Amino acid sequence: MTTIEAPNSAQQTLDLGPARSLVCRECGHQVPLAAEFACSECFGPLEVGYDFGTVRREDIEAGPQSIWRYRNLLPVPSTVDAHPNTDPGCTRLVRADRLAKALGVRRIWVKDDTGNPTHSFKDRVVAVALAAARELGFKVLACPSTGNLANAVAAAAARAGWESVVLIPSSLERAKILTTAVYDGALIAVDGNYDDVNRLATELAADHEDWAFVNVNVRPYYAEGSKTLGYEVAEQLGWRLPDQIVVPIASGSQLTKVDKGFRELGELGLVEQSPYRVFGAQATGCSPVAAAFKAGHDVVTPVKPDTIARSLAIGAPADGPYVLDTVRRTNGSIENVSDEEVVEGIRLLARTEGIFAETAGGVTVATAKKLIETGQLDPDAETVLLITGDGLKTLDAVQDRIGPRATVPPSAAAVREALGL
Ligand SMILES: *Cc1c(COP(=O)(O)O)cnc(C)c1O
Ligand SMILES: [Zn+2]
Repeated sequence: MTTIEAPNSAQQTLDLGPARSLVCRECGHQVPLAAEFACSECFGPLEVGYDFGTVRREDIEAGPQSIWRYRNLLPVPSTVDAHPNTDPGCTRLVRADRLAKALGVRRIWVKDDTGNPTHSFKDRVVAVALAAARELGFKVLACPSTGNLANAVAAAAARAGWESVVLIPSSLERAKILTTAVYDGALIAVDGNYDDVNRLATELAADHEDWAFVNVNVRPYYAEGSKTLGYEVAEQLGWRLPDQIVVPIASGSQLTKVDKGFRELGELGLVEQSPYRVFGAQATGCSPVAAAFKAGHDVVTPVKPDTIARSLAIGAPADGPYVLDTVRRTNGSIENVSDEEVVEGIRLLARTEGIFAETAGGVTVATAKKLIETGQLDPDAETVLLITGDGLKTLDAVQDRIGPRATVPPSAAAVREALGL
């Protein structure tokens, strides 16, 4: 069954901060906080419900330089930073004038999440999952992963002194395998694609009650970590919302939670409730949500992924329908770009801003370019691009296309000749 009883979930004194219950996204059915992820009434996904009370800007601003400054908006214990965790967040928001000029728009900001402890935004979701899992009584951190999640889970477990079980497709980029294995948890390469690995994890989660699969049985808590991207962007803009934001889509969770974060800030009076538009970005080789958006469908038809953007290669995205809702409600859209365009996107960002993104970042930049060229993004409105992972993890994607301009003997004349001087 879908309900997994955590070791001490019967305990009445859970401290998960402002979190009060789990609420079904489909039918609104509420259950007490526990390690559950699917509604017992309709099998819809469960989401954390809160009672925030009063949250003030000053308290957030006085908090630590990590996502824990937003602890009063997250399902984590009030003592969260007393326990070892990777403490991600507070990454740079970079004003990208040279990129904006190259794209022919007025103002772009790049949220550079390559600066997290394991160099992707996944540290945010894993840190929240670990904090909640500890409170729920788990002792093992686990996940199925397309790569970045593997890094983040293995590192967070190592730091916490927990065991980890990480399942990856065996075809993953070499860099992502090594940067997971180094933390010395149990890393298992599975002969299959991500969707196969995910199915396997769901099966294992049902049998191993003390394993917290961050994106399966503790997914409602994990997912909330992505809200911190929205909070940070707003705080870094001086407590206001951007006009437009472009977000890469894998399962789609991040996109819906960035929107949830923006809405909460407005409802709590922490920012003015100004309208904003949310845009989604996918690689054409795995673009089921973009296809559903363009066809006007409410459901997403699964695909078999084939793209260099492996961190986004989820053929059956769990949050696909909610992404469609979010994008349509905010008057945004979803575009997809070829692998060739992804590499061009990586190079454009590197060349204009000195930021080396992984393939997912290339998807975001290339999609923004396409959205501008097709008149979907307003060139006069302020736009934020979420750059969610580091280019050092996906060197394979660019290694055949870039390199030294010349290889020369150690002579000044040879260097000048190579430079055409
Ligand atoms: C996982 C991932 C995403 C998207 O995450 P979802 O919440 O599953 O849509 C985006 N960028 C990178 C680099 C990722 O690793
Ligand atoms: Zn339900």
